[in-house]
Amino acid sequence: MSPLKSDARLSSPVTILEGLGIKTAKAFARLNVFTLEDMFFLLPRRYEDRRYPKPLGDLKRGETECAVAVVDELASGYGKTEAVISDWSGNARVIWFTDKLTFIREGMRLALYGQVSERSIVPQFTHPQFEILRRKDQAPTLIGKIFPIYPGTAELSQRTIKKFIDLSLDMYLDRCIKEFLPQKILRHYGMMSQRDAILQLHMPKDENTFIRARNRLVFDELFLLQAGIIMRRKSSSNEAHSQELKPGKYFASFMDNLPFSLTDAQRVAAYEILEDIEKPYPMNRLLQGDVGSGKTLVAELAMLAASDSNAQSAFMAPTEILAQQHYINLKKSLDPIGLNTALLTGSLKASERRNILAGIADGSINIVVGTHAVFSGGVDFKNLALAIVDEQHRFGVLQRNALAAKGISPHILAMTATPIPRTLIMSVYGDLEVSTLNEMPPGRKPIKTASLKHSEFSKLPGMIRAHVRKGHQVYWVCPLIDDGEKDLAAVTSTCQYLRGLMPELNIAVLHGRLDIAEKAEIMQDFSAGNIDMLVATVVIEVGVDVPNASMIVIQDAGQFGLAQLHQLRGRVGRGEAQSVCILLENENITPEGVERLSAMVESSDGFALAEQDLRHRGAGEICGTHQHGVTDFRVADLVRDEKILLLARDEARALLAEDPELASEPRLKQEIFRRLGRVLELAVTS
Ligand code: ADP
Ligand code: MG
Repeated sequence: MSPLKSDARLSSPVTILEGLGIKTAKAFARLNVFTLEDMFFLLPRRYEDRRYPKPLGDLKRGETECAVAVVDELASGYGKTEAVISDWSGNARVIWFTDKLTFIREGMRLALYGQVSERSIVPQFTHPQFEILRRKDQAPTLIGKIFPIYPGTAELSQRTIKKFIDLSLDMYLDRCIKEFLPQKILRHYGMMSQRDAILQLHMPKDENTFIRARNRLVFDELFLLQAGIIMRRKSSSNEAHSQELKPGKYFASFMDNLPFSLTDAQRVAAYEILEDIEKPYPMNRLLQGDVGSGKTLVAELAMLAASDSNAQSAFMAPTEILAQQHYINLKKSLDPIGLNTALLTGSLKASERRNILAGIADGSINIVVGTHAVFSGGVDFKNLALAIVDEQHRFGVLQRNALAAKGISPHILAMTATPIPRTLIMSVYGDLEVSTLNEMPPGRKPIKTASLKHSEFSKLPGMIRAHVRKGHQVYWVCPLIDDGEKDLAAVTSTCQYLRGLMPELNIAVLHGRLDIAEKAEIMQDFSAGNIDMLVATVVIEVGVDVPNASMIVIQDAGQFGLAQLHQLRGRVGRGEAQSVCILLENENITPEGVERLSAMVESSDGFALAEQDLRHRGAGEICGTHQHGVTDFRVADLVRDEKILLLARDEARALLAEDPELASEPRLKQEIFRRLGRVLELAVTS
């Protein structure tokens, strides 16, 4: 019996386990298992139902079966061991592809688990797992139960993983786990204890019990996060004050000059936003709407209300190209009504930058457009009251608070065209209100999408020429800038190639390494229609708006994620013309790549594609929150567990409404901070 370390806790390193040395600890670290808690929560990848040993006479060919039988004959040599086994119901053969099993003897009783060969006259187990049952009444550990299969690695066998998990559960589970959920909740839902639930993960009794166990642990994760979010909001919104913004004469003259009318969806969203920013505490709102749904205009209305209230607005874009484009467009409609707009980028000349910073500081600049990086530096506003964060999903969630940390609490409107599934918004952004533009401006025709094999490449020049002949323009997207070690298309060489193929076209290159002036010039030329085809990297992914572009070719399309493909496709379909999107496959496209492309061909609904993306990629990746651990659930799955999430939120709200400081639930409070402390602190102080 190994010595029990009495000071063991959830955070104790796995080396506290007897027999687990540095080498094994390193192997466990590869699985992100560092502590006892990680060990308890190392989820099996799958389970094998080994509950029902079969009489040999009932073995099914081609199935994976388990059995208990006696060895009658044994022969071994030339890298093989063969046995004939029997029980009361019949015989079977066993073959192992090793001759090292010399410890098996005739007359021994074995428990076996493995595949029964498809074709053989006598049923045959091929290289099964086995266990020798030495005593007559000895119960097998290999079979007779639902058996967990863990995510193994080369250095770490299933046997070793299981051994140490079982050891950790035996020795330390009871010692480390203390119930933290309020009795009321436990009783109301008839919940399993956390201890039993963890045991069920590793040795499930049956499907129902397992699901109850999993639900309990899912509830824990989601409930603690929701409670944490509510507590965080309370602590941060107590003292935050914002300026009250109301539309006035700028707003009115802008509306008078607007060449079209708002869509109903824009009207509703604008109303929701105006209602928020009229209040003396900060708005926190996400405006989501598919590519081309007209989010910028809605944001502009809010900025007008800010100007009318003598306050400044900041408009943050994820890239310089986009900042530039927003600046040009905003200026077009804001100059005529007498508002002063400025562009602040990283590549301004020192003197220009100084002038603009001065204008921001003395309040003569009403609206500042820039990349978000610019705003995280030392920019002093006279009175910043509204911050627009375009394409928020690329920034990650916590940056939202960077401005607030400077001692100002502007109203914040984040915008995204990558719709964030509701479950994700609730769990990550918790305190965020959402407006949705679920309608396109009139006159848009749905984009036709097709995927082409590389062998069909020769169809493309004809299609491109046809678009250009009608006076339209084309995007051609490649994954790389230069030819690289990966066998993927690069803009520079592709552009040369396409110029050779279609010498009559004016083809230009755009990528992130060009300096901002060059980029701006090329974009302006393209906007003005002087360039027929733009060969670009994903720098055009978000926001770029040239309505005359009606065709986009995405080369090596299997490389890109779904959200990205949908974004890229959204570069076209912005004008009156029928637009097309061609997804060009690489020869070595992966099966997942093929799946993404067919999803794109089948659906033009950004929300549906986003759900699918979430399912495949996981939440942290999508929100950029991975490094913060907000969505790194161990058990919960935001797609599968939406119902539990809603329940957890309601329970957390009810509890905290009654007892905001959790004075009556010290264990729960402790557990919230233990699990989420870092995340919550980050969010409060960043
Ligand atoms: P996104 O939601 O992708 O950011 P934009 O704000 O770039 O979309 O808008 C796409 C295009 O639609 C722009 O050219 C914009 O001027 C135009 N637009 C916006 N609202 C309307 C509307 N109500 N009617 C017609 N065109 C509109
Ligand atoms: Mg946009």
